[in-house]
Amino acid sequence: MTNLHNAFATDDPDWITDMHADHYLQSWSPQGSRPRVITGGLGSWFWDSDGKRYLDFQSQLVNANLGHQHPRIVQAIKDQADKLCYISPAMGSDVRSELAALMVDITPKGLSSTFFTTGGAAANEMAVRLARHITGRHKVIARYRSYHGATGGTLSLTGDPRHHLTRADMPGVVRMLDPYHYRCPMGHDDITKCPVCQGGPHLEELLMYEDPSTVAAVILEPVVGTNGIIVPPDGYMQSIRESCTKHGILLIADEVMAGFGRTGEWFAVDHWGVTPDILTAAKGINSGYVPLGTMSVTTEIHDALRGRALPGGLTYAGHPLACASGVAAIRAMQDENTLANATDMGQLLRAELAKLADKHPSIGDIRGLGMFNGIELVKNRDTRDPLVPFAAKGDAAKPMSEMMAFAMNEGLYLSFFSNVIRLTPPLNISEDDLRHGLDILDRTLDIADRHITP
Ligand code: PLP
Repeated sequence: MTNLHNAFATDDPDWITDMHADHYLQSWSPQGSRPRVITGGLGSWFWDSDGKRYLDFQSQLVNANLGHQHPRIVQAIKDQADKLCYISPAMGSDVRSELAALMVDITPKGLSSTFFTTGGAAANEMAVRLARHITGRHKVIARYRSYHGATGGTLSLTGDPRHHLTRADMPGVVRMLDPYHYRCPMGHDDITKCPVCQGGPHLEELLMYEDPSTVAAVILEPVVGTNGIIVPPDGYMQSIRESCTKHGILLIADEVMAGFGRTGEWFAVDHWGVTPDILTAAKGINSGYVPLGTMSVTTEIHDALRGRALPGGLTYAGHPLACASGVAAIRAMQDENTLANATDMGQLLRAELAKLADKHPSIGDIRGLGMFNGIELVKNRDTRDPLVPFAAKGDAAKPMSEMMAFAMNEGLYLSFFSNVIRLTPPLNISEDDLRHGLDILDRTLDIADRHITP
């Protein structure tokens, strides 16, 4: 172990990695790892202490939607820090009110007030509590291929295997299957015949068993993020919306990853003209420069809360530094036509991926919306046998981790979950950078092709 007395003395990369390995607890990872030390970033690129540059095809944790060090966001944080770093959530603040008003402009019509949190999990936690409070019901329906956060309640709602880590889930969670049409959960070739891929019919069956009068909310990611970038068939969201309305169940759209332009619209639900009762978001709101999340509600819910306390709160709700960065990021996205770039570059990306599929037999499926894309890798296209098993880790995930390591070595930052590589570059990426990344991806996929079986 190195000398802790040097704690303020050095930017020496070895010291930084020593301290990281020995004294820093890292999210979702075995401890003691020795990371690359990142010393800077700009736009779609970041670099390490050796000066090696990486193209960020992941936007970090799918949050750096405007890339690194966007000057308008950085300046807004500096200006706000000079003016007022913190004021309690109950006080009036210019940036807090400005962000609340901007949210009305960009969220689906009908949503009119927002609670600001410190991130996605806190927003979802609040959304579920509020839904229970408003409806007086306790059950919440959530899907299997989902990630909703790492707090007690949100990890219970999460469907991927990490929810087992709670040891005792929050009571009242009921699971629904996902419209994963590449591998239809009901085995239909024609997804128009599948109750799950259509949405409403599957939900109605669950409600028949569960009794709708006990169900407070359905929570779902309109486009699944972490668990494999699954875009629902057209009509799915509308059909879920209809069932929820029919039974007085609140629809919570978790847009923590999909929101703020990631899919080419402000929010993924905009692709289907659906207004949820509660919409949660975070990440892309300010490209992650300061922790910030949002929970927006309809005017009906706001009205139901007039004269009645909001059932929750946070010391850092509506933090001025975070709100200032959110305002700057949203205005920058409006002025710089970021959504249009995300749409155009997303189309180009998927067209180029389709060409790569001609060359790489390991590509089973290409899917996405805007800058929210995934390629699903298989051992065999006809059988669709996944390249690695669902939620594989360690040796079982080796072909995937080898690809990530190869790409990183070539200067491309990618991520994966199970057998899906997620491609989520900054929304304002240039065409040249996109093509550069695709070139490295092309060579990376040779590794997957070695695992093809006849
Ligand atoms: N919901 C979704 C869809 C997410 O992707 C995430 C994080 O990746 C969360 C919630 C949790 O957000 P946070 O890590 O900011 O608490």
